[in-house]
Amino acid sequence: MNNRQLFLSHLAQTTDFPLMIEIEKAEGIYMFGPEGKQYIDLISGIGVSNVGHRHPKVLTAIQEQLDKYLHLMVYGEYVQSPQTLLAKAICDTLPSHLDNVYLVNSGSEAVEGALKLAKRYTNRREIISCVNAYHGSSHGSLSVGGNEIFKRAYRPLLPGIKNIAFGSVEELSEITQDTAAIIVETVQGEAGIKVASAAYFQALRKRCDETGTLLILDEIQAGFGRTGKFWAFEHYGIQPDILVCAKGMGGGMPIGAFIANKDVMGVFKDNPLLGHISTFGGHPVSAAASLATIKIIQEENLLETVEEKTDLFKKLLVHPKIKGIRNKGLMMAIEFESFEVLKPIIDRAIELGVITDWFLFCDDSMRIAPPLVITESQIKEACEIIIRSINEV
Ligand code: PMP
Repeated sequence: MNNRQLFLSHLAQTTDFPLMIEIEKAEGIYMFGPEGKQYIDLISGIGVSNVGHRHPKVLTAIQEQLDKYLHLMVYGEYVQSPQTLLAKAICDTLPSHLDNVYLVNSGSEAVEGALKLAKRYTNRREIISCVNAYHGSSHGSLSVGGNEIFKRAYRPLLPGIKNIAFGSVEELSEITQDTAAIIVETVQGEAGIKVASAAYFQALRKRCDETGTLLILDEIQAGFGRTGKFWAFEHYGIQPDILVCAKGMGGGMPIGAFIANKDVMGVFKDNPLLGHISTFGGHPVSAAASLATIKIIQEENLLETVEEKTDLFKKLLVHPKIKGIRNKGLMMAIEFESFEVLKPIIDRAIELGVITDWFLFCDDSMRIAPPLVITESQIKEACEIIIRSINEV
């Protein structure tokens, strides 16, 4: 059996339409298949490879850590410099009250930790989230998801969850003194890149302050430079009480975090109640890679060019079949008539060497979220292939 047959036989499938692209190597914005077929990666493994694949500084950090130690102990017991220095570097990117970082392994886990923390700190039980939100695939994170089709088969989920419309100031009145937290994606990702106004986020912050509700911002997809600011909330003049991140954080290695004020986070250390425990949280190799990733974003000025790169995509992706573009920085959705129109375009673009896909809850739109290191000429090449694909199908 070849690799494709083995993939279908033995690897648990998550979709009827796996992209099934075989990759042997990746570097920068490129991936390479068997016989050296080259692809431009326009989705960064769903918002992960923000600094590009195998960035040399990430590889060096990983190598240096490999020479020291791998796993030593469950999270939070030993003083391990990759974790400690990473926590400090993350806090340095944040407003001063967000000074305490809990490292985990993934986005879903970061959301779990954030929800538990909010319940524990507020002693309240109700949690609010938004329609069409995606916060992860574990029971807790799925419970605060905003798509009933995805949740139906797993009910009963967590009780006391209410969904309100993302971006609706009126529905903020649903937040009350019974609400432990509201969790919101700063930019909705899997809904197909839905952006809310600064006025909405400011009203949300105000309502949380009035009711003593914690505001959890999920920047698992939007954080780490994706939107042109290090954190997407910086666009809106507000600050969360708890911030969750993952994906782009590890520069290609698995890691996530939930971040809060030390007083809030402090409730987790009160014995005898269990706080949150993770064996592999903040794995030293991932933490070293993440620290390198932060430095790359800062030292290579990746944030500064996001806007002009976004504008170039928008200028080049013009076609009668493109109905519109939604975006916040390089988190983009290119809208078509339907999935039936879009799917053959994606397939053709892959044949021609450009990888895109669609969104979990929005299958009429093409996802574009390239590594932030993509250059002007690479954007032109990729867009030419997309337009050619539209014309050919
Ligand atoms: N929140 C958001 C906004 C996401 O985009 C994702 C992943 N697509 C998650 C949470 C879950 O992250 P993970 O897959 O690492 O568990």
